[in-house]
Amino acid sequence: MSVKWWRRVALDIVHEVESNVMPLFGDPRASKTIAISPSGDETKLIDKIAEDSILAKLRKLGINIVSEEIGSINQGSKYTALVDPLDGSYNFISGIPFFAISVAIFEENQPIYAFIYEPITDRLFEGIPGKGAYLNGEKIRVREPIEKPAISFYTRGEGIEILNHVKRTRTLGAIALELAYLAMGALDGVVDIRRYVRPTDIAAGVIIAREAGALVKDSNGNDIVVSFSATEKLDIIAVNSQELLQTILSSIKR
Ligand code: MN
Ligand code: MN
Repeated sequence: MSVKWWRRVALDIVHEVESNVMPLFGDPRASKTIAISPSGDETKLIDKIAEDSILAKLRKLGINIVSEEIGSINQGSKYTALVDPLDGSYNFISGIPFFAISVAIFEENQPIYAFIYEPITDRLFEGIPGKGAYLNGEKIRVREPIEKPAISFYTRGEGIEILNHVKRTRTLGAIALELAYLAMGALDGVVDIRRYVRPTDIAAGVIIAREAGALVKDSNGNDIVVSFSATEKLDIIAVNSQELLQTILSSIKR
């Protein structure tokens, strides 16, 4: 299946999710807990609405699905979609306009297409392995390293030494979208060292950030490995330069 074909799938999903989800933006009813996800998080009503909308589209394609709230669906396909139906649910529920839909497509174990869609700004980020990263069809790159970088930083207290080396920290609450912002040069790094993010949260963001020139590592400095799991917990360090990577790794000192 061609990139063009997957892009049509992406747009189809985006429209479906947008029309089902956006009417509940900032509405407290969206926050009703209706289940516990496979990884132990609460599934809110809005997560379920978003997931059902996406699954309805993906199931019909006959592909395998690994999604945040439901876990794994094996349809015996060579294609697998890693899905975070709503990245930044808490922002959404609170009326904070920073959330996205995140989907990564793999053929066997190889990534072939990823998209992250931000409804509020109508931004569609895409990653096409070997071909680059795109924002609404225009090629994007990470920005040139600057002396006092701005990073998104999630910690439970570890590595706060990092704060001495950066100018600004942002904790925006939607990791997939933060990786997309790194890819378009709005951030210099995205760091989450809480052993908290799951492959479903970051799969699309990793592809898009890498295609935009980012280094995407685990907290040991190894290339991050995205498995087909909705429950595994990972650390992620994604940056626009080797130097910033070294600074962050030495601040963590594992
Ligand atoms: Mn989610
Ligand atoms: Mn998520």
